[in-house]
Amino acid sequence: MDPISELLQHNVDYGARHGVSHLPTEPGQRLAILTCMDSRLDLFGALGLSLGEAHIIRNAGGIATDDVVRSLILSQRKMGTERIMLIHHTHCGLHGLDEGQLREEITADTGVDAEMTFGSFRDPAENIRQTAARLASEPALRQVEIRGFLFDVDTGFLEEIDLP
Ligand SMILES: [Zn+2]
Repeated sequence: MDPISELLQHNVDYGARHGVSHLPTEPGQRLAILTCMDSRLDLFGALGLSLGEAHIIRNAGGIATDDVVRSLILSQRKMGTERIMLIHHTHCGLHGLDEGQLREEITADTGVDAEMTFGSFRDPAENIRQTAARLASEPALRQVEIRGFLFDVDTGFLEEIDLP
């Protein structure tokens, strides 16, 4: 069976166990989490989160892009979140990525100039601080508490990163 069909089978079981719930749209912990798309990050397990408690916004690297800002504006103004957790992690695919090489690869494959930046970084802690600084300087966002963490994908522990 192909992977997606197998997941659909799992959903039949999930729906049967799930029952009907009517959780509010507003996250119960009034929390938004920005994190990486990495497949080893299970925030529900790692943080003891339950459904309905937090917004989880994910992209490659967990960095503050324009679209993340868009999501956070909605999260804060329309769904009442009041604090932000940034969770980056060890062994990230963006750590040390050669963006120039990736752009050349895309151009060679497609003939199109890939002018975007991909968010590669050298220092995970510095990357978290930069993400926090970008969010703190966004005028459309509320000035809420932001805390930053590095998740160790080998051990499952979070380390808090001091933000200025
Ligand atoms: Zn990552």
